[in-house]
Amino acid sequence: MKPQPEAAHLVSVGARPDGRDIKLSSGAAAAWARMRADAAASGIELAAISGFRSIERQGEIIRGKLAAGEEIGAVLRVVAAPGYSEHHTGDAIDIGVPGETPLTEDFERTPAFEWLKAHAMIYGFHLSFPRDNPHGIAYEPWHWRFSPRPGRKIRQGSRPGPQGPNKAWFPVNSVSSEPRNILEKDLTASWAMRFASGFLMSPVIVTAIVR
Ligand SMILES: [Zn+2]
Repeated sequence: MKPQPEAAHLVSVGARPDGRDIKLSSGAAAAWARMRADAAASGIELAAISGFRSIERQGEIIRGKLAAGEEIGAVLRVVAAPGYSEHHTGDAIDIGVPGETPLTEDFERTPAFEWLKAHAMIYGFHLSFPRDNPHGIAYEPWHWRFSPRPGRKIRQGSRPGPQGPNKAWFPVNSVSSEPRNILEKDLTASWAMRFASGFLMSPVIVTAIVR
């Protein structure tokens, strides 16, 4: 993985369950708005789970996990080293759909993922970590990066469509039978707990998978 520069100019595209803004670079934010509106017009609801994350915040997350007794090797399997997350650029977005547990491979079985595979490139979004990617990073069907290919036109306009509020939270209606690792299992359980209790999700849980 290459070092990822931190974005200088950010635009809010919605809010997390804990009320913190989800931000993207202005180019990615505009493309995301167009893509989301067009998907909605086709009956596909896309929601932002996570966007920009600072290098400083990435370090905090790692320190927090180490302080909680986790092994560095295990931590670095799900958390990019500070300076190496695509989320630093403001161009990467984690996408989910209402009714599905976020940040799990189950996302690949949703109509939203099928729609993204067919259309995201039109808006300049590409899957960063497909199956068996050369980076050796676990498959992340939810993680898309805005990187319009040189010479390729990306969609500028948008068809009119439903423009409801960004639903950046999800009920847990299924728990993956094969969580990739213990952190994901914790994440899934935490989502379920949040919905059972009605409490706001803690920032630590929101960022359990922080590549
Ligand atoms: Zn991501």
